[in-house]
Amino acid sequence: MPETNRERRQQAYREAIRLKVCSVCLDSRDDLSCSLGGRVCAIEGHLSQLVEALSGIDSSRIDPYEEAVRALVCSDCEQQDEQGQCRLRNKGDCALESFLPFVVDAVEDVNQRLALEGEPRAGEPAQVKGPSS
Ligand code: SF4
Ligand code: SF4
Repeated sequence: MPETNRERRQQAYREAIRLKVCSVCLDSRDDLSCSLGGRVCAIEGHLSQLVEALSGIDSSRIDPYEEAVRALVCSDCEQQDEQGQCRLRNKGDCALESFLPFVVDAVEDVNQRLALEGEPRAGEPAQVKGPSS
């Protein structure tokens, strides 16, 4: 079955995260595969929401990205309790939380590449190419 546009984009984000985030994460193996046992990394498990949350922000500070992750990803994550507490976050054991600047960098890199190819950012409608003038 041919790969859809969405799958191709998801794969591009996955690959950028592997190179920019897994490469600095202590839970990665030499080939950058993930050695986490018993749970899925929050970056992988919430990739679509994560990309959408980060793509709506353009800031030189990390705080707005953190706020977006808390609001759109943590709020839907099974690790966070009803009081908004997350055991993994408190232990520094969530890669998304620990490596957020690297995750932002990876997502923004892919977004820039997609923009150059005329693809919309996550959450934006596709551009309709008009007749050339
Ligand atoms: S925990 Fe997440 S960031 Fe770390 S190696 Fe696994 S998938 Fe990559
Ligand atoms: S910090 Fe906790 S609640 Fe937020 S994504 Fe990571 S594991 Fe999930």
